[in-house]
Amino acid sequence: MLERRGEGIYNVVAIGAGAAGLVTAAGTAGLGGRVALIERNLMGGDCLNFGCVPSKALISSARLIQQIRDAEKWGLDRQSPQFVFEKIFDRMRARRAKIAPNDSQERFESLGVDVFRGEARFVSPHEIEVDGRKLRAKNFVIATGSRPAIPKIEGIESVPYFTNETIFDELKEKLESMIVLGGGPIGCELGQAFSRLGVKIDIVQRGSELLPREDRDVAQFVQTGFAAEGISVHLNATTKRVSKQDGEIVLEFADGNPLSADAMLIATGRTPSLRALDLETVGVDHDEHGVKVNEYLQTSQRHIYAAGDITNQLKFTHTADFTARIVVRNILVPFQLLRQTVDWSVVPWCTYTDPEVAHVGLNEKQAKQKKVEYDLFVVPLEDVDRAVVESEDAGFAKILTAKSSDKILGATIVAPHAGDLLHEFVLAMSAKIGLGTIASTIHAYPTFAELARKAADKYNKTRLTPRAKKIFTWLYARARK
Ligand SMILES: Cc1cc2nc3c(=O)[nH]c(=O)nc-3n(C[C@H](O)[C@H](O)[C@H](O)COP(=O)(O)OP(=O)(O)OC[C@H]3O[C@@H](n4cnc5c(N)ncnc54)[C@H](O)[C@@H]3O)c2cc1C
Repeated sequence: MLERRGEGIYNVVAIGAGAAGLVTAAGTAGLGGRVALIERNLMGGDCLNFGCVPSKALISSARLIQQIRDAEKWGLDRQSPQFVFEKIFDRMRARRAKIAPNDSQERFESLGVDVFRGEARFVSPHEIEVDGRKLRAKNFVIATGSRPAIPKIEGIESVPYFTNETIFDELKEKLESMIVLGGGPIGCELGQAFSRLGVKIDIVQRGSELLPREDRDVAQFVQTGFAAEGISVHLNATTKRVSKQDGEIVLEFADGNPLSADAMLIATGRTPSLRALDLETVGVDHDEHGVKVNEYLQTSQRHIYAAGDITNQLKFTHTADFTARIVVRNILVPFQLLRQTVDWSVVPWCTYTDPEVAHVGLNEKQAKQKKVEYDLFVVPLEDVDRAVVESEDAGFAKILTAKSSDKILGATIVAPHAGDLLHEFVLAMSAKIGLGTIASTIHAYPTFAELARKAADKYNKTRLTPRAKKIFTWLYARARK
């Protein structure tokens, strides 16, 4: 007999309808499980509403605006782009609306998922309350994601500021200037996009470089590009106080001159969204970084799993998706022995600055930290004909291999479409394909993808030892006799 919505026992209740919760719900329903999905705000979570989707839509308009500014690079007359700030935002929202049906309540209900709108709270290890109704389940998946972390700066509670949760929908007109607090991926992506939209941008970074996860030369390259576009970057900045004076936000530092601007965007990291869940009542271990899980993504209560930003160190949509898929499988499998463990060894990511910065596996910084011996192959984009003819030859690739071997340890690409180019290396690493195989794979000419083959050619050249060359020279000489 079919049980009525909300009644009886679900196989899975997923809390949060962002990437992790949606994948959990769709996956479980697709395999024939009875699943409920709870969302307190917008279906689609951060990625669709306040993250990847609106930011990349803005970035695409900003890129075109910059190309028009740079028209001479393509042999056109110098010109300045004509655009209305608000229309760029309208277009961003229209693009987002085009994707939204994929994550909608209607779509998920059509997949057989019972969707409940409201804030979820555990009331017992097998019971959760939402909107005054109790749902019972064999398993729960905490997929409540993360929120912007607000730094403790004197005066912060008394000044207005934007975060990723507000900037895409609450910014109503063009700003003259904006301070971007934080020089990580979100600060860099949005800082550059707003600068290209004509907003004077100051990026304030506490550490000694932008994009601190990347190698120093990569971060330096991005910073140099920012400077050329008129973005000011303030490194090693210790913020002291923030206030509003004469309609402007004024940010003071421990040393150095204060900065003032029309507005401030906070992009200083993420904090887990777990307060409402009442995790203490069910004994789920957690700390300021999120919900703690074992290698099977189970919390300290084994029937309660966690996926996505709420537990992942690497907070991306694709890692939320990755962990949710493992959770779906592990809930279905009845024995711990057969459950899948999470393997973080090959995780790509991309920062969508222009040029993009894409990364998988180890970079030099991480290899040195882990004391891993490596060989390094660097290919400047200028060596790639397609990049040259497209006037997009600013950038490079760095490929690390295990010392004296073609085993790929990691790749960083700084280039237009680097996020797409990276996947040859991602697949190679996952499938344990070495640089030697990439070198012998035909790559279409002229493509940006030749970047990978050129790195592989560099590896091949290292195999040509003086001894091998001597033998070849002898063979050639013999053939001439
Ligand atoms: C500006 C920005 C740009 C980004 N760009 C990229 C990118 O280009 N590529 C990429 O891979 N990643 C990007 N990210 C990161 C990506 O958005 C997140 O990693 C991803 O959204 C995490 O998905 P999630 O399902 O774990 O959490 P979320 O998407 O945060 O979803 C969690 C959901 O749970 C709900 N919720 C929370 N608590 C409760 C409760 N008690 N009851 C009911 N519901 C609850 C929330 O309302 C939310 O909808 C970006 C993030 C930001 C902020």
